[in-house]
Amino acid sequence: MEERNCDLIVLGGGPAGMTAAIYAKRANLDVVLLETNVTGGLVNSTYTVENFPSYPEIHGMELMEKMRAHVDHMGVEVEEVFEVEGLELGADEKIVRGYDMTFKAPAIILCTGRKPIALDVPTECDQMHFCAICDGAPYKGKRVLVVGGGNSAFDEGLYLLNLGVAELTVVEIMDRYFAAQATQDALLGDPRVKGFTCTKVADVEVTDGQLTAAVLEDTRTGERTTLPVDGIFVFLGQSPNNEWFRDVITLDDKGYILAGEDMSTNIPGVFGAGDINHKLYRQITTAVSDGTVAALSAERWLRSRRK
Ligand SMILES: Cc1cc2nc3c(=O)[nH]c(=O)nc-3n(C[C@H](O)[C@H](O)[C@H](O)COP(=O)(O)OP(=O)(O)OC[C@H]3O[C@@H](n4cnc5c(N)ncnc54)[C@H](O)[C@@H]3O)c2cc1C
Repeated sequence: MEERNCDLIVLGGGPAGMTAAIYAKRANLDVVLLETNVTGGLVNSTYTVENFPSYPEIHGMELMEKMRAHVDHMGVEVEEVFEVEGLELGADEKIVRGYDMTFKAPAIILCTGRKPIALDVPTECDQMHFCAICDGAPYKGKRVLVVGGGNSAFDEGLYLLNLGVAELTVVEIMDRYFAAQATQDALLGDPRVKGFTCTKVADVEVTDGQLTAAVLEDTRTGERTTLPVDGIFVFLGQSPNNEWFRDVITLDDKGYILAGEDMSTNIPGVFGAGDINHKLYRQITTAVSDGTVAALSAERWLRSRRK
């Protein structure tokens, strides 16, 4: 097992983590950025970003490639496809264990963001998706089910219609949709679309690993119907990626880090930044802001320890 000691570990390589790494490197810290996937985070699956100052319109992945280029330009050490196998957050030492590498540092910034909430059905299959932009293309001419009645579901539903799906059914468990009215009108006004409120997905039918149908349940009557579908796109919101630290870091009732103004947590030398923090607005700009503050606070904290 190889061991790497550094000043600061940044866990998570979305906009918050990459910004934190850039600021840390500029402050002359020996920083390592660990990312379980590829860098870019949720923005990689956002088709067009229209609210990041300096680009009136830019593909999410392109924006993240630019941010990553900046990280590389600074000479930050980045470990992608890094699977955490253990995390210790001691007051003096933070240890992140991977399969064949262990990272140790006095300070860490947790920037692990959020993940989509999955359907509560017993069977999983390859035709269950959380991002139309990423996975929608193969469904041209096919039947899809969109689960959820919020803006994400309706926006991504419109994207699927644009791709040329043959039939689209949208279901919402509550008694109304929550997407903006204009988006609702655009989606539900398309002749290929059927929408049902008070409806949940009770089960899915899978044959030889291939999805064949969704079983829909009317929540008022309990009546079940089988809907043949080729793919399901789930938009039920997001939950925090806190599994490695939820027992030791103080979180709010939804599992988000309760960080101070300086992004510090209840453990000295542990900082939180980005969507993983309890906050009002989760945007790229607010993640970038948190990453900035967390790195500067970590640098100040490390300096105060050396005195
Ligand atoms: C559908 C959708 C559209 C959006 N559109 C916009 C938009 O147009 N404009 C805008 O400003 N914002 C938008 N947002 C919000 C924006 O994407 C987020 O606010 C932003 O990505 C948060 O950045 P982050 O770095 O905190 O988290 P994330 O982007 O979620 O990045 C977290 C990273 O941490 C990694 N990670 C997780 N766990 C671990 C672990 N244990 N070890 C190592 N790495 C880990 C993840 O793989 C991920 O790369 C959108 C969000 C969604 C869901």
